[in-house]
Amino acid sequence: MGGNGLHRKARRGAQTFDAVVVGGGIVGLSTAYYLSERRGMRVAVLDRGRLGRGATWAAAGMLASQCEVEEAGPFLTFALAGRALYDRLAPALRDETGVDIGLRRSGALRVAFTEEERERLKRHAAEQRRWALDARWLEADEVRRLAPALAPGVLGGVYFPGDGHVDSRRLAAALAAACARRGVALLEHTEVTGWVVEPRQAQGPAAHPGGRDAGSAHPPGARRALGGGSGTASEGRVIGVATAAGELHAGAVVLAGGSWSGLLAAQLGVDLPVKPVRGEVVALRAVDVPLDTIVFAKGTCYLVPKADGRLLAGATQVDDGFRNVPTLGGLGALARAAETLAPPLAAAEVEDYWSGLRPGTADGLPVLGPVPGWAGLYVAAGHFRNGILLGPLSGMIVARLIQGEPVPFNWRAFGLEGRFGPADAPAAALAAAADR
Ligand SMILES: Cc1cc2nc3c(=O)[nH]c(=O)nc-3n(C[C@H](O)[C@H](O)[C@H](O)COP(=O)(O)OP(=O)(O)OC[C@H]3O[C@@H](n4cnc5c(N)ncnc54)[C@H](O)[C@@H]3O)c2cc1C
Repeated sequence: MGGNGLHRKARRGAQTFDAVVVGGGIVGLSTAYYLSERRGMRVAVLDRGRLGRGATWAAAGMLASQCEVEEAGPFLTFALAGRALYDRLAPALRDETGVDIGLRRSGALRVAFTEEERERLKRHAAEQRRWALDARWLEADEVRRLAPALAPGVLGGVYFPGDGHVDSRRLAAALAAACARRGVALLEHTEVTGWVVEPRQAQGPAAHPGGRDAGSAHPPGARRALGGGSGTASEGRVIGVATAAGELHAGAVVLAGGSWSGLLAAQLGVDLPVKPVRGEVVALRAVDVPLDTIVFAKGTCYLVPKADGRLLAGATQVDDGFRNVPTLGGLGALARAAETLAPPLAAAEVEDYWSGLRPGTADGLPVLGPVPGWAGLYVAAGHFRNGILLGPLSGMIVARLIQGEPVPFNWRAFGLEGRFGPADAPAAALAAAADR
């Protein structure tokens, strides 16, 4: 293995798959779920810890497409499509696995405490109505009719009836159960330490995973890009991943490592500026606050009434590297914000308190699709505050790209091509990879 984590030559006897997914959070599990819809496709998901225990475990599970996104554009379109997908996904997962992911179309109410925020929210609602979306401006008394426990200082708000939430832990469990039923290899405690690469070869006939050439990661003729994905400008090909237990080879490799994705991409000379942003959430019980809808106050906190009777109050946003611990300061800040929003919460019982690392990107948008310069490699990362909302659709997009099937969404605004700083040439990374 080269010092940079790259392996140049494939070791004989490595396990082979049609697709290997690095990272078993919502994004990686969703990718495997949609890949495995195609019968006979051999898929593996690798996680260095337990499946679904990264940011996905920490999430409040909001599907807050309209509440979170203020401006019309590709991100709002993505967010709306991500939310809509849950209408099919939730019943499909229940039928296949028996797991109820707790989908609730509770609506979301975004409230204003200042005149400035009130004006801004009115514009937000008007903008969304221009896009034929249901966004209702409510005066202060109407807000209190909807959510009587809110503080008297609330000056009004926008109600988005289409937003809602799921239980992100159950969602991960359901996706994992569906994958297991379909024969996906779910490899926990298996850290990817590097990539298995080779120089790009001449293009051969098309080889789609699950198809005739599926038996080997790189049989004769299978070295061309799969599906409509990796570009012709490729200088190198990723043919697998390295772990302490050996190499796994695959026709397609998906990098879905959440906050750690940038570190893995850097081994290939790829600039993928994904950075961890810690978030902390407190779960409250015995709450004397009748609340059916999500309440969201920008810059302070949100409240999410879960189906099991808990009320989640979240979330801090802290730039503290990979330090993933709930802190007293975070708990204090959440307590003050929640009490300011709904004063009766002062008496609520603290049941649990946790943290997670959101995968943030330099421009705040997720990164999806083929990795320029490296045939066979795809990325699905950087979903920051909205990975539960966008994870299933991201997984479907990447799966369809790999399979060479029509993609039900124009993902190109989120592609890596030309988006961040110049990457080192794959050729340089390849040259640094040691032969064995
Ligand atoms: C407090 C908090 C609240 C949130 N609330 C919401 C919300 O309400 N709605 C919403 O849509 N989003 C929310 N999010 C964001 C959402 O949780 C994330 O965007 C999403 O979970 C990211 O999913 P992921 O699969 O990319 O990453 P993760 O869930 O972090 O999964 C990445 C996985 O990759 C694995 N991995 C990393 N490196 C390696 C390696 N080298 N080898 C093998 N495996 C590796 C990790 O172990 C991890 O399991 C919240 C996040 C936080 C922290």
